[in-house]
Amino acid sequence: MTAQIIDGKAFAASVREKVAAHVARLKDESGITPGLAVVLVGEDPASQVYVRSKGKQTVEVGMNSYEHKLEANTPEADLLALIDKLNNDPAVHGILVQLPLPDHMREDLVINSIDPAKDVDGFHISNVGLLGTGQKSMVPCTPLGCLMMLREQLGSLSGLDAVVIGRSNIVGKPMAQLLLGDSCTVTIAHSRTKDLPGVVGRADIVVAAVGRAEMVPGDWIKPGATVIDVGINRIDAPEKGEGKTRLVGDVHFESAAKVAGAITPVPGGVGPMTIACLLANTLTACCRANELTEPDGLTA
Ligand code: NDP
Repeated sequence: MTAQIIDGKAFAASVREKVAAHVARLKDESGITPGLAVVLVGEDPASQVYVRSKGKQTVEVGMNSYEHKLEANTPEADLLALIDKLNNDPAVHGILVQLPLPDHMREDLVINSIDPAKDVDGFHISNVGLLGTGQKSMVPCTPLGCLMMLREQLGSLSGLDAVVIGRSNIVGKPMAQLLLGDSCTVTIAHSRTKDLPGVVGRADIVVAAVGRAEMVPGDWIKPGATVIDVGINRIDAPEKGEGKTRLVGDVHFESAAKVAGAITPVPGGVGPMTIACLLANTLTACCRANELTEPDGLTA
């Protein structure tokens, strides 16, 4: 078998198109423009790249983008004061605080100071609780993107066996909740799981969110399974020249693509969906704040 490649880049472009069309309609019909505020503390180069990309894509879909850059040594109280201001700003419908924060800041406290209705990352404890109890919430962007791709690929997920490898608060746990919400039988695997190959081998859906390069080989995967590779790992690529590197996922793509029914590549799979879902969440938050119709197919 040769797996179908799930094109996350193309899918993300279609999500952005849907968002842009809905934003244009919103502006026409109600004069409201959704606004996303992104807060970056410090100079982390990877975070700077993400924030720039988020700002650019926000503007491209017709939304307002507000960027706030704070020095790495900014007191925590100043960040909390800025979040309070954004919570009370009616032009801001979504607030994202770029993680990681500097060591002197308490990440949980900062995240939980965001108005849950504007928490477009879905990390606020209220949103975690709402998702866990099957209520309407803001859903973390990466798992939401994975769910959208799975639904597009498989239609109904009901009754399928799914394994999520990884139990982080930002990917693994919310991913498992979403799959449960779509009536999968879900196993959450982690570093202490006994017989990971056996667990993976029973799954119709494999979501790998570990952060270990190519740790899932093709011979663990059930023939025909759908594989979503969340991992982003940079490894040496001497074949490209001295000192060169390349990105790979948590799944060994070449061997897995010979067994799986469908698989996401790295790069070009889950990655592009994450920012697209951030835009979708901002639009959803704006519609909910103004009691307007939410876009179809862009939420869990
Ligand atoms: P974390 O480091 O927070 O969590 C990793 C999880 O993997 C932990 O639950 C850990 O288990 C588990 N794990 C570690 N080693 C093993 C092992 N040998 N077998 C089974 N499970 C193991 O990572 P994140 O969830 O934040 O991210 C995971 C990956 O996804 C990373 O590569 C990250 O870069 C990528 N990512 C990609 C995004 C995208 O947009 N595409 C967005 C977010 C993340 P335990 O809890 O027992 O320690």
